[in-house]
Amino acid sequence: MEKFPGKSLYAVKANPSPDLLRVLWDAGITHYDVASIAEVRLVRAALPQATLCFMHPVKTASAIAEAYTVHGVRVFSLDTIDELEKIVTATTVGGIAATDLYLCVRLRVSSEYSELSLAAKFGVDLVDAAPLLQATRQVADALGICFHVGSQAMTPFAYVQAIERVRAAIVDAAVTVDIIDVGGGFPSIYPGMEPPPLEDYFGAIHRASESLPISYSSELWCEPGRALCAEYNSLVVRVQKRRGDELYINDGAYGALFDAAHVGWRFPVKYLGDDRGLATAEFAFYGPTCDDADYMKGPFDLPSDIAAGDFIEIGMLGAYGAAMKTSFNGFGETVVVEVGDEPMASQYLGNRRDPRVSDNVVSLR
Ligand SMILES: *Cc1c(COP(=O)(O)O)cnc(C)c1O
Repeated sequence: MEKFPGKSLYAVKANPSPDLLRVLWDAGITHYDVASIAEVRLVRAALPQATLCFMHPVKTASAIAEAYTVHGVRVFSLDTIDELEKIVTATTVGGIAATDLYLCVRLRVSSEYSELSLAAKFGVDLVDAAPLLQATRQVADALGICFHVGSQAMTPFAYVQAIERVRAAIVDAAVTVDIIDVGGGFPSIYPGMEPPPLEDYFGAIHRASESLPISYSSELWCEPGRALCAEYNSLVVRVQKRRGDELYINDGAYGALFDAAHVGWRFPVKYLGDDRGLATAEFAFYGPTCDDADYMKGPFDLPSDIAAGDFIEIGMLGAYGAAMKTSFNGFGETVVVEVGDEPMASQYLGNRRDPRVSDNVVSLR
């Protein structure tokens, strides 16, 4: 993401692991998109110098006040006049209104090119945006417009179309805009989902934003979650039982495999055992809880004679995997091990590997 033609804010919800936050900080990520007071406290504790941006458009007044007065947060997003008034009130200290607020108005945009929609819940409609932008301009030190095209956007055109809507909003409202924040949605590579290179996204965003009616000194921001952490974690599971082409494994819908179960997401898998040169077959997984919904249809390609007791690596679980684990039904206990091998697939150039492949077998050391 260092090739993004602007500033990258890491969206903490994708993976709030303090170890990862430190890795990103060391790699030069200074800004963090947080959405709850717990995330504000977490990142502030892990990275005292970080710039925190509170980008959830619906916050409690107490969360805003604590973020502003205790944790030094100056960047907030909003999509209604009510939220704007709440932010102004909660950041007024001793009867004096804040003069250092960076306020980003969230515009509703289409999610039609993304695997997971974020279009329904947040964002002001274009037809209602002008009065909100004008009112926000009155109280903001810096005014931004932000949006989110949905997670795992499979084409750069998603951003081009959204930036066109930003243009219409700026023209309608006739306000000076200091920040254009194109949000998250940058894709990673998964079986059956092979997006264009990230450079194509950056190029399209750069060209589209160059032609916006904004000043030369205005800033371009983005808020990647998935793209910065998908490759960070794998999960090793054990087969507890086999029933035909269904494998009962010890993690599932209520663990790190929420998306595999609920959105039918296919993650790369690798059998961890001796290479016996066997043919592969397609399997579905059942998770460990007693709930029928704890089912992942895959299909997942594994050696055809895989059996109870075998271990499987499930890759690309760094984004929204670890973050969504629960201990429902008494499961969910894991051991975290730090390893230095390559991710099972990569969206970063020069390191692009096909996640469906071939070396289905690695040795356990
Ligand atoms: C979830 C979220 C992100 C990150 O989205 P990805 O698709 O993981 O890149 C960024 N910004 C906001 C406001 C979000 O809610």
